[in-house]
Amino acid sequence: MYRSSGNINHNSTHNKYRRSSDREKYKLLLSLISKSKIPGNNYDKEECDNGDFDTLLRNSLIGTLVLKGNRLITTINKRFTEICGYTQQELENKSAEIIHVDKEHFIDFGNKHYDGLRVKNVITEWPFRHKNGNVIWCNITGMAVNQQRLEDGILWLIEDITERKAYEKQLVKAKLKAEESDRLKTAFLQNMSHEIRTPMNGIIGFSRFLKDPDLTHEERQEYIEIISSSSQQLLNVVSDILDISRIETKQMKIKENEVDVSEVIMDIYLCFKPKAKEKRLKFELQENNKQNGVTITTDYEKLSKILYNLVSNAIKYTDSGYIKLGYTVNTDNIEFCVQDSGIGIEQDKHELIFQHFRQATNDTTKKYGGTGLGLAISKGLVNLLGGDIWVESIPGKGSKFNFKIPKVTGLNPENSASDDQLKEDNVNELEKSPTLLVAEDEDINFRFITEALRKQKFNIIRAKNGLEAVDLCEKNQEISLVLMDIKMPEMDGYDATKLIKKSRPGLPVIAVTAFALDQDGDNAMEAGCDHYLSKPVDPDELVESINKFLVSSF
Ligand code: ADP
Repeated sequence: MYRSSGNINHNSTHNKYRRSSDREKYKLLLSLISKSKIPGNNYDKEECDNGDFDTLLRNSLIGTLVLKGNRLITTINKRFTEICGYTQQELENKSAEIIHVDKEHFIDFGNKHYDGLRVKNVITEWPFRHKNGNVIWCNITGMAVNQQRLEDGILWLIEDITERKAYEKQLVKAKLKAEESDRLKTAFLQNMSHEIRTPMNGIIGFSRFLKDPDLTHEERQEYIEIISSSSQQLLNVVSDILDISRIETKQMKIKENEVDVSEVIMDIYLCFKPKAKEKRLKFELQENNKQNGVTITTDYEKLSKILYNLVSNAIKYTDSGYIKLGYTVNTDNIEFCVQDSGIGIEQDKHELIFQHFRQATNDTTKKYGGTGLGLAISKGLVNLLGGDIWVESIPGKGSKFNFKIPKVTGLNPENSASDDQLKEDNVNELEKSPTLLVAEDEDINFRFITEALRKQKFNIIRAKNGLEAVDLCEKNQEISLVLMDIKMPEMDGYDATKLIKKSRPGLPVIAVTAFALDQDGDNAMEAGCDHYLSKPVDPDELVESINKFLVSSF
């Protein structure tokens, strides 16, 4: 009966408690309270020593409660009324159930702790309910007046620890978050290791094979193709890492231009069509794309990158069926949609996948590869363009990623020099081969530049540091353009450019920066460079830039 009800088991119908034995027990409790270190504990010690326990209970800064018989409240001190919000009258002769969270807690408490009281004091933490309905956590110490007869009385000393509990909860939350970050970091490193090692393997392995003089022409071409595509793969990983860090440190800038939407869509379509075909997927452009002439003012590259990521995922996570790409023009915004009939995503992962390094399932990496950065980058870019991105998906049926961006991002258009008239001119009109100074300390990088310019009629001379570059420019008036590496010994590219521009202001200097950060480009321009290119340098872009500046300096 006691166990199921949580009440005290007693034989007699009514129990009289013996006042003298109570006092003995209370005396013990008195010492317990008097040892308490609560500041301002101002009970009258002498009175207590004289045995005035009622005074002790009243004055104690620890909540005190005496339950008798069938867990009826008989004595309450002021402090306890403050803790629980009830008045003395509201509690007296009531079942202790009134202060418990609910009946279940009341019974549970009896089951858990009353047996223990027959042997020793009970010390525990327990939630109660304040009169205002809030849960209050208390640290409680209970002592039976008579361990053989619990109904004779149990004295409970109660401290409110709600605040401490709240701190503990916050600490636990912070700890879980830290553990989660740690887990994510480990998963990220494992993914990265995989994503970087795979193409590295291809590059290093097949570069070695290329040395074999017995290779056939076809084999050589095949190996070169593998090295080239592995390099591109590696570059994509590096770009993703740079992009996410630029987004998160708010260093990503918008370069607004007039964008023909159907052109962007068509570029993406043509880029992925072969891949879709390879996987035997139907790749459709939605009807309204066929309308021509929808122009918006946004950042072309960022819009392209978002669509690239979404379509690339759609193809990656679809084994059969279709991919659809389309957009709808609304009054103020334009809504893009990439739909697939692929593996789909569980509902509870729809938000999570937009966080960096997050994947919908733990085996995604093993099965499909990936760093978990694509959607985080896409979301960052969409937000940067002033829009929203979301997904609708059913596992096993497919996913539909939508994003909408304003038709005009509302930012100042960046002045981009028109290259057209320059392109029309032809460097072949130059009468003699121009001399280029390449300031580059790394042999491989210098070798790459000479190789990229091999088909051009340039005289190339080299400086291995900034000082040498300044010196050569002063001594050799034949030099008509400088390709300037930034990170060099003795003197870096920024300082070298400043000195060169002092002595030869008209000499074009093109910086070649290694980190692909906007800041590097800005620094180069501030130092006086006329243009900058990011490593790895695209050979065509290199030639085009050199020609552009050579023409304009003549
Ligand atoms: P990655 O593809 O490199 O893992 P993303 O950030 O692009 O990283 O995507 C995060 C996760 O979202 C993926 O790992 C995958 O679980 C899920 N996901 C993204 N796109 C799709 C899609 N079209 N279909 C099914 N799952 C997808």
